[in-house]
Amino acid sequence: MKLPALLLAALLATPLLPAAHAADAHGHGAHQHGVAQLDVAVEDDGLTLQLDTPLDNLLGFERAPRSAAERRAADAALQRLRQPQTLFRLPAEAGCQAEPAQIDAGLLDPARAAHGKAGDGHADLSVLWRWRCSQPKALTPLRVDLFDAFPRLRRLEVQLVGPQGQAHRRLTPDARTLRWP
Ligand SMILES: [Zn+2]
Repeated sequence: MKLPALLLAALLATPLLPAAHAADAHGHGAHQHGVAQLDVAVEDDGLTLQLDTPLDNLLGFERAPRSAAERRAADAALQRLRQPQTLFRLPAEAGCQAEPAQIDAGLLDPARAAHGKAGDGHADLSVLWRWRCSQPKALTPLRVDLFDAFPRLRRLEVQLVGPQGQAHRRLTPDARTLRWP
């Protein structure tokens, strides 16, 4: 059955499930616990990865930390995200140097949390990692170990942009290696 475009647009704009809301400014899919989006850009001089994930995948809760233990858990997650060498295995032949991670911590940012809007009970976090690489052609295969650091994460929907164009990949704990031509 083919839906009329207008009806389809209305459906997409309406959250149908409690754990799903409209796509964010990056145009990614709905917020779904266990699933995150990873944009992979292979460039002439390096690699850029952007992760957009429900906070639940990292912490098991989606609000500002309420206890010392939750604060510690949040700090540990942020610390881990600042260590991309523990999250991704880049081939040594690619000759890559990591740049500092850029994290949009959302509700984990104390300044933001204090002024947080009531919202729908869900929250996301995004991270941008970039590497300068002397041999970007050697970046494939690239192994993604986010699943070990964050066991609540069960699936990554990957948009891969490289010299060969754009492709979609789906990674899971058992199939976590990205390859491209
Ligand atoms: Zn959520």
